[in-house]
Amino acid sequence: MILAHYYQQIPAYCKAKAAFRVPLFLLFFLLPAMAAAPGAAQAGTLQIPQGGVARVEVTIQPGDSAPWGSYRARTVRFAAVSETRFVGLVGVDMQSDPGASPMEVRVLRAGESLILDRFTVEVTPVDFPEQRVEGVPDSKVNLSQENLERAGREKADVQRLWESGAENPLWNDGWIMPVDASPSGRFAHRRVFNGQPRSPHNGEDFPAPEGTPVIAPNEGIVRLAGDRFFGGNTVFLEHGGELFTFYMHLLEVTVTDGQRVHAGDLIGKVGATGRATGPHLHWGGRLGGSRINPLFLVKGAPVYVAGATSEVSVR
Ligand SMILES: [Zn+2]
Repeated sequence: MILAHYYQQIPAYCKAKAAFRVPLFLLFFLLPAMAAAPGAAQAGTLQIPQGGVARVEVTIQPGDSAPWGSYRARTVRFAAVSETRFVGLVGVDMQSDPGASPMEVRVLRAGESLILDRFTVEVTPVDFPEQRVEGVPDSKVNLSQENLERAGREKADVQRLWESGAENPLWNDGWIMPVDASPSGRFAHRRVFNGQPRSPHNGEDFPAPEGTPVIAPNEGIVRLAGDRFFGGNTVFLEHGGELFTFYMHLLEVTVTDGQRVHAGDLIGKVGATGRATGPHLHWGGRLGGSRINPLFLVKGAPVYVAGATSEVSVR
């Protein structure tokens, strides 16, 4: 099955039901703790696997400002689905420490900052396997001084990109797949090229025939389009609200820097340029500074409905 690999990687989400099988003796300890904190007993928990993205849905009242969230000292931006319904995206880095942190969702109502919900985001661990790749040209594994400097410059360009861009989402809730192909399920695998350990795989691969169209999955602005040492012909898309996606190893890039693209617009064609052993699309994503699997944008994201259980409180 196409998505078998992919779902194997997000066991925490798939196994959500298992969390309810709490041994009775544990409840004995948990219940008094929950009772001791008024309100806490109602607060929900959102589980997100390492490298995952979750959707936080919220309904506001007419006249409220757009909602915003805070999680691990980052602002979570929301996009409007209708006048009063909004969706926010929360990303968890592939190597984020597992564990629980609080998240808040707020609006401005009649000049006051209101907490619509305060809940727990629990990062669940994923056991990403090792991926051994042989037959990579030695020049792409053991870099010459010149290539080392080039790769360093390109990495710095990308770091600057992550810290730039529109604060508010350009994206809407209509994400589509960028290529008509199946994912190989190798997101975040620990890679060993020609026997040498390298950084984890910062995206999902889609093997496809050379020339297969690659399209924008949502609204965006083209950034850093061009040839890169590792990525080959590459396009980055800025989607606003600290969300970026990128497309590597392209045969050709069909867009230019600064170009506004809409979902379905052609941005390039599948190739095998850069550090690649065959034609495929490498699709990566970055959200709020976290390395995320962009497939979660299209399908499989855990959902939390904010404000559904707790009272609105003023802060
Ligand atoms: Zn890849």
